[in-house]
Amino acid sequence: MPEGDSLHRAAQRLQVLVGESVEVETPHPRAAVKGLAARLDGRRLEGVEAVGKNLLLRFEGGLVLRSHLRMKGRWRVERKGAPRAGKPWLVLRGAEHEAVLWNGAVLELVGARAAPRLGPDILGEPPDYETMLARLRAGPQEREVGDALLDQRLVSGIGNLWRAEALWEAHVSPWRRLDGIGDDELRAVLESAHALMRTALDGRRPPRRVYRRVGRSCPRCGGIVRSAPQGEHARTAYWCPDCQLEVGGNAPPS
Ligand SMILES: [Zn+2]
Repeated sequence: MPEGDSLHRAAQRLQVLVGESVEVETPHPRAAVKGLAARLDGRRLEGVEAVGKNLLLRFEGGLVLRSHLRMKGRWRVERKGAPRAGKPWLVLRGAEHEAVLWNGAVLELVGARAAPRLGPDILGEPPDYETMLARLRAGPQEREVGDALLDQRLVSGIGNLWRAEALWEAHVSPWRRLDGIGDDELRAVLESAHALMRTALDGRRPPRRVYRRVGRSCPRCGGIVRSAPQGEHARTAYWCPDCQLEVGGNAPPS
């Protein structure tokens, strides 16, 4: 799953085409059936933004193309006419550049009003922490914080990697229940996620402390990093049981 920061980077690269009327092609047979090229070709690209895990491309006339990359999808921006092998899902061609989507996964046209209802973007400048906290508090409070952080309706853009790293940074165990966490601690977790992801987006990828480091020593306290599936979708949580406070939390599966 591409993390939020790589989507933001794609959105940044695609800005070179904003304002241009673009030629649109869908060379891949799975994308060709959607009739996208016919509806979008020649329209002006008005904006590109990463919202949660979606890239939203806004075209004149109120048409919004939603691209979700899933595991393998990738956007590239190249000089117009650069050689390539294979059939990309989508090509948007401007006067000098073309944006090419490989392995599209999800590509669909939505109305401007049909954009998914997502929580505030963790990479917002500035991030809307108040609304994030309000949404986290509006749902069931017996929910574990690690699980809640991945719910894109509450806060959008945090993937599994940054969930693990942000919780470690803030000394908070993923297994703590929302009703056992104060607003200050919750806000500290969100601020850590923002700071780490912002740093990664700027090209200085922070070192991993717990993510995919099961059985290795915690760089802060020397404890042994653990992992366990968490939440409805059984996403793997990583944490240090020694320095991430578990008070007010559920016992992780052993
Ligand atoms: Zn530790």
